[in-house]
Amino acid sequence: MKTEVVKITAESENGAYKKAAELLNDEQVVGMPTETVYGLAGNAFSPVAVNRIFEAKGRPTDNPLIVHVSKFEDIYDLVKAVPESAKKLAEKFWPGPLTVILPKADKVPYCTTGNLDTVAVRCPSHPVARRLIELSGLPLAAPSANLSGKPSPTRAEHVYEDLNGRIPLVIDGGESEEGVESTVISLVGEKPRLLRPGNVTLNELKSVLGEVEVDNAVLNPLKKDEKVSSPGMKYKHYSPEAEIILVRGDYKGFCDYVNANSSDDVYAMVFDDEGRELNIPFICYGHEDYKLLAHSLFDTLRELDKKGAKRCFVRYPDEHNDDNLAVLNRLLRAAGFKVIDV
Ligand code: AMP
Ligand code: MG
Repeated sequence: MKTEVVKITAESENGAYKKAAELLNDEQVVGMPTETVYGLAGNAFSPVAVNRIFEAKGRPTDNPLIVHVSKFEDIYDLVKAVPESAKKLAEKFWPGPLTVILPKADKVPYCTTGNLDTVAVRCPSHPVARRLIELSGLPLAAPSANLSGKPSPTRAEHVYEDLNGRIPLVIDGGESEEGVESTVISLVGEKPRLLRPGNVTLNELKSVLGEVEVDNAVLNPLKKDEKVSSPGMKYKHYSPEAEIILVRGDYKGFCDYVNANSSDDVYAMVFDDEGRELNIPFICYGHEDYKLLAHSLFDTLRELDKKGAKRCFVRYPDEHNDDNLAVLNRLLRAAGFKVIDV
């Protein structure tokens, strides 16, 4: 299959929207920009389309998909009931990078939800994604448009790198602004529970809901036989070819450790304005500000591979700042939880 990449804006009239909407209505899949990362979209009500998503990504079929809608009212088609907590969250954070988990409506197929009785729903803010949902007239299941296990794509070219020949069309709407996937919160248990941190922060969730539990798997490896609340947490994630090692401590300790352990093809990932003291090549991945770190994290992980890095030592963001949870969660998984204290 030939993969076409078409550049687009929210206002474009170059036929690309029509083509994408036709493909989606024909149970095909399309790479689309969202404000978090690029998604691989297909009709959430169609088992054929959903299976195509799993196949193109090589994603395990028990890892459920997030369904994207263009307006709040559309979630009534997807869920059994809408609790007050979901309404409050949507009012504050939709459209935007927040996914809520609720009991699924009967007509949502089990292949979309990885055989769970719950469904994940989000209303994205990206104008291209919104127009595509509206034009297709479908709720769009859309996991990140990378090969399973790889860093999520934040540019159309990342989608092409991973899925060339596997999908018919990628819509190029420019770089994803947020750079990490949505925050995922479950509203099905007794208390709201954060399953995946994102740029809607824990503190922001608490400001709306009061108490919010944080799932153990957010910052910790799964224990043997531990039951997972979010199936995605079981799998290897966000991994470049390079071995990622997190180095926790101050900048001086980081430099001393890295310089003592340098060799060929070893790189460092540091905060902006750092790196001059290192005797190996380095890439800056943002200020010590959670939004800036999130924005360039996956792009930087992919850049390491392009440079041929075999190993990379990474500066560890401040873990006492809850706003850093999203970046920490992705880095810990990319590193397979390898952390060195200096
Ligand atoms: P991705 O589509 O790659 O952004 O990943 C979606 C994430 O949402 C995965 O970690 C899933 O495990 C999680 N997720 C989706 N649906 C559910 C659900 N019904 N219950 C729990 N977690 C879910
Ligand atoms: Mg993903």
